[in-house]
Amino acid sequence: MPHKAKESYFGGRQPHSEGNSLVNKQPPSELHHGVKILHDPIRNKGTAFTEAEREALKLSGLLPPRIHSMAEQELRVLGNIREKATDLDRYLYLIALQDRNENLFYRVVMNHIEEMMPILYTPTVGKACQEFQHIYRKPRGFYVSLNDRGRIRKILQNWPHKDARIIVVTDGERILGLGDLGADGMGIPIGKLSLYTACAGIHPTQCLPVMLDVGTDNERLLNDPLYNGIERHRERGDLYDELVEEFITAASEVFPGVLIQLEDFGNSNAFRFLKHYRDRTCLFNDDIQGTGAVAVAGLIASLRITGSKLLDQKLLFLGAGEAGIGIADVFVAALIEEGLTTEQARQRCWFVDSKGLVVTSRQDLAVHKLPYAHEHEGCEDFLAAVNTLKPTAILGLSGQPQTFTQDIIEAMASINDRPVIFALSNPTSMAECTAEQAYVFSDGRAVFASGSPFDPVTVGNQTFVPGQGNNAYIFPGVGLGVIASQSRTVTDEMFLAAAHSLANQVSDSDIGRGRIYPSLAQIREVSALIARDVAKMAYDNQLTDKEEPEDILADIRSYMYQPVYPHYA
Ligand code: NAD
Repeated sequence: MPHKAKESYFGGRQPHSEGNSLVNKQPPSELHHGVKILHDPIRNKGTAFTEAEREALKLSGLLPPRIHSMAEQELRVLGNIREKATDLDRYLYLIALQDRNENLFYRVVMNHIEEMMPILYTPTVGKACQEFQHIYRKPRGFYVSLNDRGRIRKILQNWPHKDARIIVVTDGERILGLGDLGADGMGIPIGKLSLYTACAGIHPTQCLPVMLDVGTDNERLLNDPLYNGIERHRERGDLYDELVEEFITAASEVFPGVLIQLEDFGNSNAFRFLKHYRDRTCLFNDDIQGTGAVAVAGLIASLRITGSKLLDQKLLFLGAGEAGIGIADVFVAALIEEGLTTEQARQRCWFVDSKGLVVTSRQDLAVHKLPYAHEHEGCEDFLAAVNTLKPTAILGLSGQPQTFTQDIIEAMASINDRPVIFALSNPTSMAECTAEQAYVFSDGRAVFASGSPFDPVTVGNQTFVPGQGNNAYIFPGVGLGVIASQSRTVTDEMFLAAAHSLANQVSDSDIGRGRIYPSLAQIREVSALIARDVAKMAYDNQLTDKEEPEDILADIRSYMYQPVYPHYA
């Protein structure tokens, strides 16, 4: 007779009310017996299967006799990870663990998030994507290529988990700051969805990473016989748009209500797809909106160090792409909340792109830059723009390393008592300056944040802990709030709410150490509170048919997956 799990199939406390259809799925009536369960990462417990479970599930003899607790298994995993020679080796080890025992994987990641995040996400995931064709072991995620046109709906049904609630989809054109990595960009949706689970408790089986393979213009990959993507240059015409359209339509049909996150698309596609699809389906672009929220949260928190007001800020961006414009848009929304008009608010945001200062006289501006083109003479370089415009903050989103030079940081420090310097380009190798450079060149006065992590820096007798201005603080909480409230859409107001929520969670002790983001160790709580505020917007603005729960936070928490083993006997 098949044995039924006594506890929830998902592990941890799970809701049973009708409304919480998110996680109250029951386990299949027949558990896999014997060796199959050892190869199912969701059910596998490895050496933690008890004597009774081994007997009941026909596992006796298939495992070493000693039974280990999950805590003991965690120790073994940590020992293995820490003895690896490189972060890429650690990445490979962790992904292999995820493929054989997801509960243990998430326990390790969640209990050691500060150590594991740089491995699973930026910067190591960038290296992994660059090497993807050589390190490829086992498929994870879902591939849709140009060859699948006309049958996407059909093949999506091959996905083994029928309750996908969130899709992260990329076409691999702009992976981190590393450019076009084609189908090898798959590491990014996989990594981001691991963070959805680790940071916000979206169940692993509800996460669907997708690669839209439309070719690549990366000659290194095209010349590599081991490259996994289709062998052709990137499709940029109607076929591309048709593929995206077919995918979004099919995904929304096969997984009704699914939240779609557009990720690392090239910037002209990113802006137009966001505009085109956001009212039609539950969708957002993390590079634009998520980055906007995380940077604005940092700017709001930085006011507690600089002692100034949001209304007094003038931002100068290096890079006018998805991330820079996304930040400016959320910043403008925050200033409008403070009483400015849109036009007044936009006047506080200035951009330098690869061709110089973004001004109205330029004829070469892409449409997304036009709202931020001001009447002004052009500037020959970023330093000249700093000296002319005298910003309170500079934000690097250019993907160009070492572009915040000593001269620029010194100029910022001569204009401002506490210059705000955000070097947000990823991965670490692409940052506009290092934490050490920002603190040393400003005599320890910079309020610094970076996209990828930097170690603490000591200048004189003061130690600064740089904050990581990475959207990993935002998208998991926003996603959880949207999913839990069953919102039909993702609004700009939700990202502003998320920014305020994150800024409010920066403690006085963080601020005392120069840090403008909470510690990553608190990320589950941070995400839960962001989710609460996002869900509240959905209820207040009638974006959902779900009735507002009495206690939104308790409802949010009840959705959050915990990495614990089920009991099978
Ligand atoms: P994008 O391609 O949309 O934009 C890049 C912009 O940089 C363009 O406006 C381009 O003109 C400009 N640029 C390029 N070279 C330049 C130069 N030498 N001087 C001035 N400007 C230059 O890319 P994006 O999505 O905006 O991402 C940019 C960077 O931001 C990437 O490195 C990415 O990893 C990083 N990013 C970080 C986060 C985070 O959480 N910290 C989030 C999103 C993006």
